[in-house]
Amino acid sequence: MSELHDAIIIGAGPAGLTAGIYLMRAGIETLLLEKALAGGMPVNTDRVENYPGFPEGISGRELMDRFAAHAKTFGLPIKEFSEVSGVVHDGKTFIVTTTEGEYRSLGIIITAGTEPVKMGIPGEDRLVGRGISYCATCDGMFFRNMDVAVIGGGDSAIEEGLSLAHIVRKVYVIHRRDALRAQKILRDRAFRNEKMEFLWNKRPVEIGGTDQVEYITVEDTKTGEHGRVDVSGVFVYVGYRAKTAFLGDLVDRDASGFIITDENLGSKTKGLYAAGDVRKKMLRQISTAVGDGALAAVNLERYLLEIKS
Ligand SMILES: Cc1cc2nc3c(=O)[nH]c(=O)nc-3n(C[C@H](O)[C@H](O)[C@H](O)COP(=O)(O)OP(=O)(O)OC[C@H]3O[C@@H](n4cnc5c(N)ncnc54)[C@H](O)[C@@H]3O)c2cc1C
Repeated sequence: MSELHDAIIIGAGPAGLTAGIYLMRAGIETLLLEKALAGGMPVNTDRVENYPGFPEGISGRELMDRFAAHAKTFGLPIKEFSEVSGVVHDGKTFIVTTTEGEYRSLGIIITAGTEPVKMGIPGEDRLVGRGISYCATCDGMFFRNMDVAVIGGGDSAIEEGLSLAHIVRKVYVIHRRDALRAQKILRDRAFRNEKMEFLWNKRPVEIGGTDQVEYITVEDTKTGEHGRVDVSGVFVYVGYRAKTAFLGDLVDRDASGFIITDENLGSKTKGLYAAGDVRKKMLRQISTAVGDGALAAVNLERYLLEIKS
């Protein structure tokens, strides 16, 4: 039978690494499982300007390297390239199945974050990686001096649109409403940027091209009229859903899969906590993920004390 850990954390983004720091510092034997490399979503963010302590801003990659280095100073073991495919609870211990084997623990913190929602329109699946992307920081450089479209009107869409504007010739922002949801500071920057053009009240209905994206067809949400926008790239930011399928019925979720927690970040299964973007909450940011990671860790520590005494 696999070794029994006190705590397992699933996901090495800001929430998971923070939980790891708190648990290890409290002397709780912990294992962190990460399906890729440590760092989480911020490694794809060009510049983080709103994480306290970095008044000049910091690249997402550098910030997360610092988080991981900090966790390692407390000896946190991080098992990278270990994707969790299932978690069950036998009444006493959690059994965690990964691509690399099985692990057991007394308590668990889920910090697996989110994944982008697809638009679900014709051409999207066929042209992913051939001009359609969900990450401008990862793929923007392939579109130097070309025209691209960004779909969405929230923070992610506008932040990524602004970062694309440094590289590409033109950024069409295609938004189904007539106003952006993004924060004012981002809106102001976007409206000032001469490379950004806003197509209001437009909904993408098809992405076309033979081997690569050549155009996007949009429908006017007011008149129903269709139009064609010639672009080489389409960057999609229409929402995110939680990655929680591997938890079966150990947790309650909302319609988008976000885990419903109590005020201590506990779930309906005792000993299972959720922190960061993966849980139902109002603001998904690095700072709130960090707060969640700390709170979940302290509550798990208390839970372990209780069951061991
Ligand atoms: C385009 C964009 C720009 C952003 N800019 C900012 C910004 O400027 N400032 C800011 O504060 N926030 C920003 N955010 C939000 C921020 O990235 C998130 O709020 C934050 O990363 C949440 O941290 P987390 O640890 O909860 O999840 P994540 O960072 O998503 O980390 C989750 C980790 O879990 C791993 N994982 C997932 N499933 C499994 C599995 N089954 N098994 C093992 N590991 C798994 C993932 O690989 C990942 O490493 C931005 C987000 C986007 C999309």
